[in-house]
This record gives sequence, C-alpha cells and structure tokens, in this order.
Amino acid sequence: MKIERYICDIKDCGAKDVKQVLVDVCFVTEQSEGRGVKPYIERARLDLCSDCREKYLRLLPLVGAGGQGLNDYTWRNLTTEDEQ
Ligand SMILES: [Zn+2]
Repeated sequence: MKIERYICDIKDCGAKDVKQVLVDVCFVTEQSEGRGVKPYIERARLDLCSDCREKYLRLLPLVGAGGQGLNDYTWRNLTTEDEQ
C-alpha cells in the first residue's frame, strides 16, 4: 500500500497544507546518479504549501500576459519590483 505524505516538498519546510503543481526546476545534477552537471530546466511534480507556491510565483523570471492564444512573454524586471 502506498502511503501518501502530504507535506511540502521544499527541504526543511514541513508545512502540511499542500497542493500538487507542475513547476520548472533548475536542476544541477543529472537524475540517475546525482552527478553535478551544467544547470538545466526540467519540470517536476511537487507538493507545495501555499507559502512556497507564493514564493515560487514571486521569483518566476518569465511573465506571460494575453488571451486567445496570443501571449506576450517578458522577463520580469526584478530590480524595478524590488525598488517599489
Ligand atoms: Zn512549503
């Protein structure tokens, strides 16, 4: 029997009110033996608590806006937002 653990996947977070989300992660190791490699983007299915989802959103570098299949993608200007 598979035991489900509903705890946030972020190391040392431990919060329990989680939701499963697909997020892009910057991996720094290859996945079979965990050897260090040049960082690459890979999607992962994680259980994240609301605080960690909020934090992920705040840190996402690409912003999309639009409708009906027409989206503009821009780099978030972190410097400007930090100054506000
Ligand atoms: Zn968390």
